Amino acid sequence: MTAYTAQMDSMFTGEPPRHILSLSGGKDSAALAIYLRDRVPDIEYIFHDTDKELPETYDYISRLEAVLGKPIVRTTPTDSFDHWLTVYRGMLPSNHRRWCTKMLKLKPFEDYVGNGPVVNYVGLRADENRTGYISTKPNIMAVYPFQDDGLVRADIIRILEDSGLGLPPYMNWGRSRSGCYFCFYQQKIEWVRLLETHPALFELAMGYEERSVQFGEQFYWVKNEPLRQLKEPTRVERIKLDWEKSEQRKKDRRGNRSLIETLGGLEPEDDGHLRDGCLVCSI
Ligand code: SF4
Repeated sequence: MTAYTAQMDSMFTGEPPRHILSLSGGKDSAALAIYLRDRVPDIEYIFHDTDKELPETYDYISRLEAVLGKPIVRTTPTDSFDHWLTVYRGMLPSNHRRWCTKMLKLKPFEDYVGNGPVVNYVGLRADENRTGYISTKPNIMAVYPFQDDGLVRADIIRILEDSGLGLPPYMNWGRSRSGCYFCFYQQKIEWVRLLETHPALFELAMGYEERSVQFGEQFYWVKNEPLRQLKEPTRVERIKLDWEKSEQRKKDRRGNRSLIETLGGLEPEDDGHLRDGCLVCSI
């Protein structure tokens, strides 16, 4: 047992806790897994597979497994996204109707964990002020090693590069976060990139929108904009132009920032996505 594990265990009386880290396929949880590999030798790594993840995420999780030298348990939910979509009568999930996280991520996590004491390691960084949706079961204690140890974005990138794993490969084509290919947290520019990189997945996402009406109400992944409209060439060009302008504005603002802010990644949207998304899906 390392000093780190002993410190965590001392927070529980009675039965010693299990140590569990949920991987999302994102860079921060991957870096945390590597960071804790030797500090918490009996840690259990788990990945909640929605069966709707990007192909790059599956690849990244497999490569991470090799780096860790330990299996990552896949917790596939008993009932699929499509099953729950029928239960919710075609209502696509959204920021305000986040049944997908509950049924496909949190429930499998809580089922896996059971009722015994658990330390749940979460990869929030010291340079972010994100809140999120994590389990609040009383037997689960969330801990934030990067925040406790003051690690910022630049440290996370260094951990990933030093390990040989690198950043998640979907970042190469401009997707900022892990999670389902159709995740409603995507920005419009990310939908455009999905269209250009994985057109078949874009079509599948569009199919979900078009079938939702069979239940009596039309739902879209992007607020008030059907994907069929978003994929029109003129609309794609407009989205790209808007994104370039907004990036330029961010760069101009960054000109006034200190070096430490820039290196530390204090840009509020440095990953280009909403900061209050599902931690379990995207961290
Ligand atoms: S990644 Fe997005 S769509 Fe998938 S479960 Fe998480 S919040 Fe829902």
